[in-house]
Amino acid sequence: MEIYKTRQEANQRINDLKKQGKTIGFVPTMGALHEGHLSLIRCSKKDNDITAVSIFVNPTQFNDPRDLERYPRMLDKDIEKLEAEGVDILFAPDEKEMYPEPDTRQFDFGHLDKILEGKHRPGHFNGVAQVVSKLFEIIPATRAYFGKKDYQQYLIIRELVRRYMPDLDIEIIPCPIVREKDGLAMSSRNLLLTPEQRRSAALISQTLFRARELTDLMTVDELKQFVIDTINQSPHLRVEYFEIADAETLLPIESWDETDRKIGLIAVYCGEIRLIDNIEFN
Ligand code: AMP
Repeated sequence: MEIYKTRQEANQRINDLKKQGKTIGFVPTMGALHEGHLSLIRCSKKDNDITAVSIFVNPTQFNDPRDLERYPRMLDKDIEKLEAEGVDILFAPDEKEMYPEPDTRQFDFGHLDKILEGKHRPGHFNGVAQVVSKLFEIIPATRAYFGKKDYQQYLIIRELVRRYMPDLDIEIIPCPIVREKDGLAMSSRNLLLTPEQRRSAALISQTLFRARELTDLMTVDELKQFVIDTINQSPHLRVEYFEIADAETLLPIESWDETDRKIGLIAVYCGEIRLIDNIEFN
């Protein structure tokens, strides 16, 4: 695997490969790689000649400094995993390389960055847009892969390309959520849970799966209350929000027949660790 630490070298290499007619798949990550990340890499390898991965813990998308401080970092272990998957290129810059001077750009995604995660993590999606727009300039791939675990982020990235990078010919590909055996959505932050918290966290996805079976029996409001109450019964879990929305616009729905594609999106504090998940209802 080729490893690049500078923007210039990574960009040069990708452009050379494109000139040779190669298709490039790109998987941006913050490292502490797990099977969720590896599933994106496997999709990319299937679709493209070359797969490039980035690892960069982007400070501008962390609205909580404690969250940034404790975010797991394990580059050597990650490199072993990427080698084992047959990844071609790793771009692993440091903070100075990505932000030689502060990025003051303000992005606007209409309602999309002001609801759900956007409302509860002010500035988060602006930071995501800053780093992903830089990464797409450095690695102008054919396709970029994003997990539906961060469903709102996937919609924001799609909008980022539409609104701000219309000349960039990059296809944004969403990939399914990968879960642990007990249903918990894989996340680098799961490493920060105590064994007891980790056991309790399974209730989040288990309640979402149960909710999917109850849509014929409950109104939207009743089902929202059911999910919130069930999860809050655990002494380790505190629901920050649960919304049921149109999967295209993420605007909340009030009745089941409002739209064909419905999604339930949740954020839960497990101790001090904030976990997100979602479930598509059809
Ligand atoms: P992160 O390193 O958390 O920024 O995630 C990098 C990419 O991996 C993002 O596109 C995430 O949505 C995706 N991802 C993270 N966890 C999962 C998962 N459990 N299943 C599928 N994709 C995931």
